[in-house]
Order: sequence, then structure tokens, then C-alpha cells
Amino acid sequence: MNSEPISIFWFRRDLRLEDNAGLHHALKSKYPVLPLFIFDTEILDKLENRQDARVEFIQKTVSEIAQKLKKNGSALLVKTGNPEVVFGEVLQEYNVQEVYVNHDYEPYACQRDEHIESLLSAKNIPFFTFKDQVIFEKAEVVKEDSKPYSVYTPYRKKWEATLKPFHLKAYPVLKYTQHFLKTEPLPFPDLKSLGFEPAGIKFPSAKPDVEIIRQYEKHRDFPALEGTTRLGLHLRFGTISIRKLVAFALKENAVFLSELIWREFFMQILYHFPEVETQAFKPAYDNIKWRNNEAEFQRWCKGKTGFPLVDAGMRQMNETGFMHNRVRMVTASFLVKHLLIDWRWGEAYFAEKLLDYDLAANNGNWQWVTGCGCDAAPYFRIFNPESQLKKFDSKLEYVKKWLPELGSTAYPKPMVEHAFARERCLAAYKKGLAEK
Ligand code: FAD
Repeated sequence: MNSEPISIFWFRRDLRLEDNAGLHHALKSKYPVLPLFIFDTEILDKLENRQDARVEFIQKTVSEIAQKLKKNGSALLVKTGNPEVVFGEVLQEYNVQEVYVNHDYEPYACQRDEHIESLLSAKNIPFFTFKDQVIFEKAEVVKEDSKPYSVYTPYRKKWEATLKPFHLKAYPVLKYTQHFLKTEPLPFPDLKSLGFEPAGIKFPSAKPDVEIIRQYEKHRDFPALEGTTRLGLHLRFGTISIRKLVAFALKENAVFLSELIWREFFMQILYHFPEVETQAFKPAYDNIKWRNNEAEFQRWCKGKTGFPLVDAGMRQMNETGFMHNRVRMVTASFLVKHLLIDWRWGEAYFAEKLLDYDLAANNGNWQWVTGCGCDAAPYFRIFNPESQLKKFDSKLEYVKKWLPELGSTAYPKPMVEHAFARERCLAAYKKGLAEK
């Protein structure tokens, strides 16, 4: 065992060496800090796609962090395995006095952290945790009676009223770099040794584009334009600081800010109502009899429904890991309402494919589209994929980009007739909702 007493900072959804609350506090502790990253086999082993671009993104980002630390004469400890087993090893190898992390809110992460905390507490090692991923967490923005909000607009108003300059204060890291443990570089796994291969996807930049944010409401609904920031991936893995982004949004664009508040709205919904992970927020919607036709689901997944906006969106996601928000709404609505397939099937498919996949946002938005979520659109509002196409991609620029065969005999005929599907959906919803 290395006898020098140290603190560990464990990186998770906060992969950056700037404005990082937990890392900042670790560096201010009395022990030198050894940062740790764990490639969690509980997650990696479940991924069927061995070209998962998210694993590649994490490996690339963590390797950049390791390079920066190396320049500083310090190192990143990288381990692969079950986090509890890994912590057991780390405690054998190093004289760990304290462990620092940032809060992670998804149900799996909460359970994992509980186990690590009790493992550490059995050895009298404190586990210090900090808020970093959001401006407001857990029960920080609740109603006057302390109950959680389930409607977005009052939540947003309270969120804005609660915000003070203090909440946007940065937690510097670079000025404390001398407090990292000085050590030789430690081994670093390449993608291949993790069992993965490059996906060949170009990752978006983590730098917010000022012009996109300034013009946000003008361009954001048109999928052919570069009208949204593509920061979802960076918010997911913490390669951008939410405090910095909110400070920027406050200055530049209130509509853009309100999207960042939607993100926190769905996070607090998952925190207060963890059952939404598997159940409808409005339980009556779990009585709807879904058709769940496997062959039809496969056509949707592959982008072969015969509805250009739906197909272009699915192919954009299959090829790049990104789908434009307007098109996410249309594809999701088509699956649930036109094909009457359980929203959980679509949610799981998006979870497999999206680079910016986030349990709270994905689940919240799928339930919103279905009508079963909090503050959801009324169920009888059914998107017409053809009129959405006319409205948001009238020159067919977006759909032609993703559907080279559009207009030829190779492009499939619509798999269902819109008016028929609409009536079938309304009947199924009505019947399900009438059941006790
Ligand atoms: P921008 O428009 O530039 O917005 C900036 C950021 O604000 C986003 O990165 C995101 O963090 C947040 N944001 C924007 N809209 C929403 C929203 N409706 N709900 C929550 N946060 C929002 N977003 C995810 O981050 N992960 C998901 O897994 C996800 N799944 C979705 C599934 C469906 C069916 C739908 C309709 C939407 C989903 N969204 C999800 C929300 C939204 O589509 C994406 O956040 C957005 O398209 C990401 O692109 P961007 O980074 O360019 O966003």
C-alpha cells in the first residue's frame, strides 16, 4: 500500500477540470487528491452495441483529463469493474482518508452511491457529496406547501425567483492544481481493451455558439438549420458547466434558458416520483391496450414508415446519435399514437441510440408526448406527420438529406393511413382511460 494519506475525487457525470464543485472541495481538503474514474462494467456489459459512441466519448474525454493531469505531474487513476469491487481495491492500494463526489440522481446511481458510502463508512472514511449537475436539485424548488411541482410554468417561475448570483458562482479547479497528488502516470485503457470500437461519429463542440443562442427561438424548430446548440451530450457527461451555461443564457436568451429549466424540471420529477421510470405519471394511462406489433416497431426503428419526417428523424438518430427536438416529438408521437405501441418501447430505443440520452429528460418527454406525463399535451392532440413536414421542412431539405431514395419507387408507401390511425388512437385512449 502507498502510505501517503490522500483524498479521492471520483469523476462521474462531471468530466471536466474547471468549475467542478466536488473537485474544488476535494482540492481544498487537507490531503493531496488522486482523481479516479471507473469504467462501470455494470453499465458497459449491458450495452449490446460494441460501437457505442457514448463509451468512445467518455474514453476520449477521460483520456484528455489524464493528459492534462500528466502535464501537471499528477495522474488519473482509471479502473474498470463493478464500483464496489473497485473501491475495495483502491482502499487496499492507497491510504484513502476522504472521498469526494458530485451528486448523481438516477435511481441506479443513487443505489450505487449508497453502497459505496456504507462500504466507506465501515472504515470510517467520509463520503462528501456536492451539487454540481444542476442549479436546483431535489426539493430546492417546491411549492409553498413543500410539495413538488408537476406543472412546468409555475416551476419555472419559482426556479427563476429562487435564483441568486450565488447559485452561478464558479468552483475553480485550476488554481488548486498543486493540490493533486504528485505521481507517475498510471495505466489508461484504450477503447479496444474496454471491448469497444470507434463509432465514426463526429462529436459536437462543448463551446456554446453565441449566434445559435441569440437566434434560438427563430431557428430552433427547423430541423434543416443548425438552430440548436447540440450541448445535450455535454450536459449529460458534464463536459460543460451548467452554472456557466445558465449565466450565459440569462444574459443572451430567455427562451433558451427555459429549455435548461425543462431539464431540471424533469430531473426533479424523477427524483420525487421515481416510479415514472417504469409507470405512467398518470396511472390511468397504464390501462391503454397497446397494439405492440413487433414488425411495425422494426419499421419505425429503421426509418421505413413511409412518412418522410418520421423516417428522416429515425435515420438521423441511427446514423449520428442525434435527432432534432421537433422531429423527436413527431417520431415519438407517430410510434405511440399512429402505431399504438407502448411509449416504453420507444423510450428504450431512444435510450440505446441518443448521445445525449438522459433518463429524466427522455422519460419525461416520452410521457409528455404520450399524454400520460406531468403537464403533458392533451392526448387528443395528435401530430399529423405530413403537416408537420410542410410547416417545419417545407423545402424538404432535412428529409432529403436523410432519405436519399425519397421520391423513387424504393421509398416505402405510408404504412398506415393518418385519418384511420387517428380514430383508432382516440378510441383506444378513450377506452383505456374509462377503465377503473
Ligand atoms: P437545445 O435546443 O440547444 O437545448 C439546450 C439544452 O436544453 C439541451 O441540450 C437539453 O439539456 C435542454 N433541453 C432542451 N429541451 C429540453 C426538453 N424538452 N426536456 C429536457 N431538457 C431539454 N433531451 C435530453 O437531454 N436527453 C434525452 O434523452 C432526451 N430525449 C427526448 C425524447 C423525446 C421523445 C423528446 C421529444 C425530447 C427529448 N429530449 C431529450 C429533449 C430535447 O429533444 C433535447 O434536449 C434536445 O433536442 C437536444 O438538442 P440540443 O442540445 O441541440 O438542445
